[in-house]
Amino acid sequence: MSQYRFSTKAIHSGQEADSATGAIMTPIYATSTFVQQSPGIHKGYEYSRSGNPTRTALEICVAALEEGSAGFAFSSGLAAESVILDTLESGSHIIATDDLYGGTFRLLEKVKKPSYNLEISYVDMTQPEAIEKVIKKNTRMIWVETPTNPLLKIIDLRKVAGIASRYNLISVCDNTFASPYLQKPLGLGFDLVVHSATKYLNGHSDIVAGVIVTKKDDELTQKIKFLQNAVGSVLSPFDSFLLLRGLKTLSVRMAAHCQNAKQVAGFLAQHEKVDQVLYPGLPSNPYHEIAKAQMKDFGGMVSFFIKGGAAETRSFLENTKLFALAESLGGVESLAEAPALMTHASIPKEIREQNGIYDNLVRLSVGLEDSEDLLHDLEYALEKVNSS
Ligand SMILES: *Cc1c(COP(=O)(O)O)cnc(C)c1O
Repeated sequence: MSQYRFSTKAIHSGQEADSATGAIMTPIYATSTFVQQSPGIHKGYEYSRSGNPTRTALEICVAALEEGSAGFAFSSGLAAESVILDTLESGSHIIATDDLYGGTFRLLEKVKKPSYNLEISYVDMTQPEAIEKVIKKNTRMIWVETPTNPLLKIIDLRKVAGIASRYNLISVCDNTFASPYLQKPLGLGFDLVVHSATKYLNGHSDIVAGVIVTKKDDELTQKIKFLQNAVGSVLSPFDSFLLLRGLKTLSVRMAAHCQNAKQVAGFLAQHEKVDQVLYPGLPSNPYHEIAKAQMKDFGGMVSFFIKGGAAETRSFLENTKLFALAESLGGVESLAEAPALMTHASIPKEIREQNGIYDNLVRLSVGLEDSEDLLHDLEYALEKVNSS
């Protein structure tokens, strides 16, 4: 399959016609166990936690899309992240992006720090030199998210991977916001990619899922394979099927998300009730050049500061009709949220504002509706601000 291009791999990798029946779509193998011919002699499957054919098809497909060696599917993005952290020994130090997904921050601080005695440093990795300043004897891993959430900062993946390899650290990239259609961290030198497949990979807001893709068939891959079975937070055959179906259209969906997001960013940038638009696709954006260098296009997420404060933000969010007021992202439908009031509300206001997340910040996940309708929706809701 490796000779094929992205869309072909999305539709065919791991997905040969079913050998028993010829079914063109991968069947949902709803079974917990598999009959053996003689003890230990079987057709490659014994028990569905260790392996299930529907999940295998999905794992082969995501590994192909990320141009990695092996894929592993989990019951959520956080379950996948947890297994990556389980590869570390107690007392390890890890260096993470400062504006991390909230759930990742919670997993590190409230779960792994107390249970594994993990030490964590948070660094603004838009200045990769800052990473080297905090490397210590027990540093084992660098954890990156780009574009970041919700400020859509872009981190230079090649530079970070270079630092990781110089110091012999495991490099991990959370590729949820970009998807492999836009960005392939393994090709830029990363060891592991992790996804909340709940978002763009599945794309239809109907499951929660996570995946890990490894770069090489090495000891780290074997450890993750072992942990997937030993910890057991695997993706079900039903959800594996849905995720496979979602992946088939990843390239057309991502291309359309990027197109619509560009329109939305351009519209907001010239609107009198908007203070500033954060979108790496805008030539004025400070991360435009690095985004252009490492991404195929600029993604479907757009953040902006509305003129005013919490009241104006609320008024805007109450008045959109197409942009549904909800957390999450990456589905075919457009969503809007206020990070300071919703996804990032648990971070104390002072720290939040230090990181640039003010009450007037709005984050949009631009969906696949007609762009004219989306722009009308935004225009209407912005008009209502201060006049409702
Ligand atoms: C949603 C999300 C996660 C967590 O994934 P779940 O599937 O919700 O467990 C991790 N990282 C990023 C960037 C996310 O957006």
